[in-house]
Order: sequence, then C-alpha cells, then structure tokens
Amino acid sequence: MLDFALGDVLHLRKQHPCGSHTWTVVRLGADIGIRCQGCQRRVLLPRSELERRVKTRLPAPATAVENGDAL
Ligand SMILES: [Zn+2]
Repeated sequence: MLDFALGDVLHLRKQHPCGSHTWTVVRLGADIGIRCQGCQRRVLLPRSELERRVKTRLPAPATAVENGDAL
C-alpha cells in the first residue's frame, strides 16, 4: 500500500488527455485529490484506484531535501 502525502509527485501509468503523466497530491482522505501538472485540472480518486494507476511516487520536494533522497 502506497503512503501518499500532500505535495507528492505521482507519475501515472496512463497519460492525461493534456499529455502529462505527472500529478501532485493536493488532498488526502478516503479519496485522494490530485492535480495534473500539465493542465492544473484536479480530480478525486479513491485511494485503491489511485494506487493501481500510480507508476512511481516522488516525495514532496521539501521532504526529499530533508532526507537527502531523490526517490
Ligand atoms: Zn492534464
């Protein structure tokens, strides 16, 4: 099970119609809100659905800097 956090950058398996694969986590809960970095559109997905769609998860930039870990 993936552990999502606000600001995480997600690369999804399926390309958004705008051409971007990259999304940012903007809301946490039973449903996870993500915003497309290509067109800024926001969508809500159930956590289980999002987990199936995510190919890679990059921690929020601030967290990455603190940990000194790019992945
Ligand atoms: Zn988009």
